Amino acid sequence: MNGATTSGELRAHNRVRLLRAVHDCGATRTRSQLTRELGLARGTASVLVAGLAEDGLLHEEPAPGHTRGRPTQVPGPHPRGPVALAVDVREDAWELAACELGGRVTVLDVRPHDGTPEGTLGPLGEAIAGHGRRLGARVAGVGVALAGPIRHGGLVDIAHLGWRSVDVPALLGSLGTPLVVGNDTALAALAEARRGRLRGVRVGVHLHVDFDLGGVLVLDGHAVAGASGAGAEFGHMRIGGSERRCPCGAIGCWGMDVGANALLRHVGLAYGGGRGRQQAEQVLATSEEAVLAAARALGRGVAALVNAHDPEVVTLSGHGVELRERAGEALLAACEPGLMAIRRDCPPRIEASALGWRGSLLGAMESVFDGLLTPEGLEAWRKNHPDQARDTPDRQSVTHSTLDGESAP
Ligand SMILES: [Zn+2]
Repeated sequence: MNGATTSGELRAHNRVRLLRAVHDCGATRTRSQLTRELGLARGTASVLVAGLAEDGLLHEEPAPGHTRGRPTQVPGPHPRGPVALAVDVREDAWELAACELGGRVTVLDVRPHDGTPEGTLGPLGEAIAGHGRRLGARVAGVGVALAGPIRHGGLVDIAHLGWRSVDVPALLGSLGTPLVVGNDTALAALAEARRGRLRGVRVGVHLHVDFDLGGVLVLDGHAVAGASGAGAEFGHMRIGGSERRCPCGAIGCWGMDVGANALLRHVGLAYGGGRGRQQAEQVLATSEEAVLAAARALGRGVAALVNAHDPEVVTLSGHGVELRERAGEALLAACEPGLMAIRRDCPPRIEASALGWRGSLLGAMESVFDGLLTPEGLEAWRKNHPDQARDTPDRQSVTHSTLDGESAP
């Protein structure tokens, strides 16, 4: 049941369903495929597509490779349609991208930062505002992923950098568009649920490894957020028996043994403070011992989470992908003894993310489109675009929007 009672509500509901389907499939399905999948009448689909094109939300292109007869149309992003500005703020740098309906990502800017809240978020806010002015009313919102727990929609703690209750919206400054601030692991999990290996999975666990490890339970496509929003913190469970003090304030956190900091520490190099990414990659490529130690620590924790949550699949992103690739056997060997007997009979799959390092950025994008792809969001868009140019047949040759940047799949 969708709750729509009037014909207007039903139409609004179907507009959302159609755009959602186009977005989720990456703008790859033909209009007739979508019509079938959504159970729409052909005439209804035509009217919906025409209306969405008129509102500057959708644009149809002939299916690639089509040769004979009436071309099959593939609905995709409108060249002047909505753009989500998505940001992945890591401990040493940030990446800003423009994302269109369907998930096409255009990287606009990548910059290192000094590790302070002001030195990170100040220039980032200016960059977002600059691109926002250029893209104008096309910007549907800004999604920002950060490498730390987020409370109450915008307060972040990044223990490695000494950030405590940093007010992200305040430091980004006035952006004039909806802002969603989220934890990098939770957003990577969201992207994995929408476009990766957690798609269609009812209960999954996602682990994201960068300087340390974040992890979250994913139920029916949603990362479990916690009461204040700071839920994606499996890395700060006391697993492994270490007595080392974690910068988060707790003792013996699992995340200290998995990730770039652990690799650096293992070979006696300086670590912490969001520095040493290149050296850590070097360690990952050359030190078998450091890689095995991290993979074993990862496996031990995975066993605990599998016992607790009974997931269908455990997905790994960031350095987790490389640890599984380089030392998958050690990871499994460390996991198995920790599994309950009932789990051992049919252990869950441990899979590498299909999205690699892009997950947090894509999740930030999804958080913006989740706000737009609602009856209210589309109505607000329509009101803001009363003079949207009509997508008439003579304009069908208009293909791609101009986002200015390095394009990425
Ligand atoms: Zn900790």
